[in-house]
Amino acid sequence: MTVTDGSPIKKNGFSILVVDDDPDVGQFMFSCVEGLGHLVEWSGHPHEALELISRKKYDIVVTDLKMPEMDGLTLLKKIKAMNDDTEILVITGYGSVSNALECINAGAVDYLVKPFSVEQIQVALVKTIRHIELKTLAKEREHFLEMSYEDSLTGVYNRRFFDEALRLEIIKSSRQETPFSLFMIDVDNFKKFNDSFGHQSGDAVLVSLGKAFRQICRGYDIVTRYGGEEFAIIFPGAPKEMAPFLCERLMTGVSNLTVELPKGSDSMELTISIGVSCFPYDGNTPQKLIERADIALYQAKHSGRNNYKICGMF
Ligand code: GH3
Ligand code: MG
Ligand code: MG
Repeated sequence: MTVTDGSPIKKNGFSILVVDDDPDVGQFMFSCVEGLGHLVEWSGHPHEALELISRKKYDIVVTDLKMPEMDGLTLLKKIKAMNDDTEILVITGYGSVSNALECINAGAVDYLVKPFSVEQIQVALVKTIRHIELKTLAKEREHFLEMSYEDSLTGVYNRRFFDEALRLEIIKSSRQETPFSLFMIDVDNFKKFNDSFGHQSGDAVLVSLGKAFRQICRGYDIVTRYGGEEFAIIFPGAPKEMAPFLCERLMTGVSNLTVELPKGSDSMELTISIGVSCFPYDGNTPQKLIERADIALYQAKHSGRNNYKICGMF
């Protein structure tokens, strides 16, 4: 038997595929969602349904559990593997509610026990649609949240994220009694770089630096742009003794960067200076740790730039 009578009820609604070897169920579904503005199709064969799903995205699949060719659980797993966003409603007889629960564990959104009324299927669909809408909303929120924590030029975390991350790192490290290091990094003579090669080349340098710092650091180190040509990195778990090694790594990384300059320009060495403070030795508040790292950075600049200083070690 082939698909559907294909008759779209109304465009712009949700697309629903009903999979049941009993054509009466397909017909019943049509009558249930009639007027709700959704597009319903029916397939009497799980294999055919999979073929349809591989060609077109359905928002919701309503499937029977007991079908001769393939059981609903197997179908569900295959659909989820193809498109995890498709929500699946399972139809079951009284005797196989435990199988329906197995389907919920495998990712089905809900189940309906036969025989069901028009109202029951409508309620189940409204619930499923609400679930889809909430999921979409959550994804959008997550995306906006990510964007609001990202520095738009360099793609590393921004100052807002840094402030929050430093506060939380202090709480976490206090509880776990572990140290962490805070690096304040400032590009040397960046004003001269901008003046010599233009603001756009300066921007490109900041982008390259952000990328390089992220590559050099571990996944759970927090690389941020503190402002202007200044970056701040939090190294969770890194004690003071580790700081010189990390500084050397960052400075070597920067010295190996190739920066594209406008044609005909003389090359100019790109270097950074770093000031380091460590929790808990140098402070247990964001203000104190930033202040100490800033003092160390000032010392690094003062001693000739392209250099690092660690709080309490100069
Ligand atoms: P120092 O070695 O003492 O740090 O000298 P400096 O020239 O780097 O420091 P200064 O504070 O005098 O100048 C910082 C420069 O960074 C000036 C400013 O225009 C530039 N800058 C800040 N933000 C940006 C940016 O987003 N893009 C570009 N291209 N330049 C920036
Ligand atoms: Mg600066
Ligand atoms: Mg600078």
